[in-house]
Amino acid sequence: MLIEKKYIDVVLPLPLEGTFTYYTDKELSIGQRVVVQFGVRKLYTGLVQCIHNNKPLGYKTKPLLAILDEAPIVNEVQLKFWQWISDYYMCELGDVMNAALPAYFKLASESVIIIHPEFDGDIDQLSLDEITLLNILSDQESLSIADILKNIDLRNIFSFINELIRKEIIQIQENLHDKYKLKEIKVVKYIGSKKKIANANLTKKQEIFILDYLKLEDKFESRKWVISDLLNEVGFSRSIFNTLVRKGFFIIENQSVSRLLESSAVQVEEKKLADFQEEALAEIKDSFKEKDVCLLHGVTSSGKTEVYIKLINEQLEMGRQVLYLLPEIALTNQIVSRLQEHFGNKVGVTHSHLSNSERVEVWRAVQENNKLDYSVIIGARSSLFLPFYNLGLIIIDEEHDSSFKQHQPAPRYHARDSAIYLAYLHHAKVLLGSATPSVETYYNTKNKKYGLVEMHKRFKGIALPKINTIDIRKAHLKKQMKSHFSPDMLSAIKRNLEERKQVILFQNRRGYSPVLSCNACGHTSNCTQCDVSLTFHKSNRTLRCHYCGYSTQMPDQCPSCNAHELNDKGIGTEQIEEILKGFFPENVIKRMDYDTTRGKNAHQSIITDFEKGRIDILVGTQMVTKGLDFDNVAMVGILNADSMLYFPDFRAYERAFQLMMQVAGRAGRKGKQGQVLIQTYDEEHEIFKMLKRNDFISFIKSQSHERKLFGYPPYTRIISITLKHKNQQKLDIAALSLGIVLRRSFGERVLGPEYPVVSRIRNYYHKNLLLKIEQKSSINQAKVILSSIIKKIREQDIYKSIRVIIDVDPI
Ligand code: ADP
Ligand code: ZN
Repeated sequence: MLIEKKYIDVVLPLPLEGTFTYYTDKELSIGQRVVVQFGVRKLYTGLVQCIHNNKPLGYKTKPLLAILDEAPIVNEVQLKFWQWISDYYMCELGDVMNAALPAYFKLASESVIIIHPEFDGDIDQLSLDEITLLNILSDQESLSIADILKNIDLRNIFSFINELIRKEIIQIQENLHDKYKLKEIKVVKYIGSKKKIANANLTKKQEIFILDYLKLEDKFESRKWVISDLLNEVGFSRSIFNTLVRKGFFIIENQSVSRLLESSAVQVEEKKLADFQEEALAEIKDSFKEKDVCLLHGVTSSGKTEVYIKLINEQLEMGRQVLYLLPEIALTNQIVSRLQEHFGNKVGVTHSHLSNSERVEVWRAVQENNKLDYSVIIGARSSLFLPFYNLGLIIIDEEHDSSFKQHQPAPRYHARDSAIYLAYLHHAKVLLGSATPSVETYYNTKNKKYGLVEMHKRFKGIALPKINTIDIRKAHLKKQMKSHFSPDMLSAIKRNLEERKQVILFQNRRGYSPVLSCNACGHTSNCTQCDVSLTFHKSNRTLRCHYCGYSTQMPDQCPSCNAHELNDKGIGTEQIEEILKGFFPENVIKRMDYDTTRGKNAHQSIITDFEKGRIDILVGTQMVTKGLDFDNVAMVGILNADSMLYFPDFRAYERAFQLMMQVAGRAGRKGKQGQVLIQTYDEEHEIFKMLKRNDFISFIKSQSHERKLFGYPPYTRIISITLKHKNQQKLDIAALSLGIVLRRSFGERVLGPEYPVVSRIRNYYHKNLLLKIEQKSSINQAKVILSSIIKKIREQDIYKSIRVIIDVDPI
């Protein structure tokens, strides 16, 4: 029988246009991973996108080298979603694949190598490395490329392996068996009995231990106890437990567990929704009858999460999956544990600190027919790429948050907007939730694209926080400022601390001070690679660039004039923390920003400490503004509101308003009304007036008006094109000529080229062009034209070395 050759279109995790065709005579299906050779030397893991019989013209196809999975790891809905992201955000399918798949699935280095069965053993012609590899392989029979790297230090492992494959000395083993192992923990098992207790001559303590254990067993029926948890719970020492093990009451067993958060949660009683929440829930369901997307605009602490929980419950009862998207930073155990209380081990979590194995585990648990079954996934933007097969609902909490947009690298997708498309593919619904919806989303409710449901009250009728401004211009004139604090701010902090309340202080900059300059000659320390000043970090006396990470020791004297008069200008969180410690030496003051939360659990441990009342004042950047629910915070202070307003970006006001409203929302969530104080030089600014009135609607109206007037989203769509090059002149010429070409097709719709605020990062100069497409024109057509222009211009010599970055709907 003649075996027919099939052609396979493969997606490779590379930023290259299109898919690549190989042939095979093996059975395989769409969504399976394969190993292919690409280019002269390299091996990659690719993904089967299409199987057909059309021999490609113009080049010789290569064979698939191996099939890595027995079943597809990606389903067809996912592939459609990838394609949409690639089309909409103007990036390559390989970029999407790269973002979508856990690293484990992409590594060709996971491929297992064996000695070729027909290798004759002649090693005369082989290099030392090749012989070493053969020696290892003959000991172990098979090895993954990753394992090989542990034994041989090879810079270009793929070409090395490839060469040996070519020489038919080794080959890739097919049907890679998952080497991923479950983690084991030790759990306690009771093997005693009443009779045993009676006969064992136990001390009082030992007896109580057993009785307590039995009570726990009753209460948490199926729970297996880890020793330390059990000891915590019963409050006895390890030695008593050890004795009971010796006496044959307990044994210790190994149990494989999921590496992911083990749900130790107890089922709590269903919370009953308040009337206004119940109404909102009904309205959302009504809206879903007609529309696929609904915005729940509910003030902070109105109980949006409780409403979500009811909706999730409904979906689970119908056997459908739910995705709960959260902004990156807010991804705390608070939400996770609230959901686990209701949905137990149906809840899966993804976040940036997961290991590769954990990512695979989540992936598998979302797939159909798995032992571990996550039907509710909580995660940041990348969880959109999980292999959902039956999504019923996507909740996007804090939908206004800009961290839903990926900036770097491609795909530069917006998770909210992409989620709406993903939901469409699954015939699922989308609920957007926020106390401060984005201008775009609000616009979509006004033009009836999305439903709108509102909750104006906080749960239990607790008042929204009282927001006041403090005029620090006056305070400065009257010489009343104590360092960066006005007397009003300080006395309010003091009062709240005396009442044993907690305080949050928001300062938008990290580090000690953003600029170090010389009093004598005015020299400021700038980054060597970027056009920004270096931020002074006092704790380790360094100057650091917040753009590229460059860091240098703080000089003792001015590098320019040698004077010993270096002074810090401006404030960051580190300085605020230090000053406060001087003012309130008796209190515990902690800082939460990028610098203090880099460790794996650092972020969570600060939150836990704050929650448990072990911190009195929490100073932080944006991180303290997001979604946290603390009972005892009565006051929030915003130290330098103005810096947020004067940022050259059409979203600056929106962002400032949202940020201030959100951080204000942390105050007074339980009990008496919270207090918010904002220090500003410009008390009369309209944004503060609206904040004080809690007047979101006026704010949105004024913003929409401006956006319409100046032609910004949502009244237009923006595509930004950034060119980067190390040579400024080359960049200028290229940007200018691109501008000219673009204007030929798009006319007035082209803005720029212009240097951005920071015009050089990591020694690359940047220049931006903006394309503004008005609503009534076709954005798709614009994209087609733009791609062809970029493609053409890239063929020109001067463009060869210029990096072109396209960002659709930039934020
Ligand atoms: P939001 O998400 O709107 O900021 P949350 O859902 O976090 O608000 O609710 C604020 C607080 O009020 C939470 O501690 C929550 O448990 C509580 N809460 C809200 N609604 C109810 C309810 N119906 N029953 C009991 N507690 C509720
Ligand atoms: Zn830098």
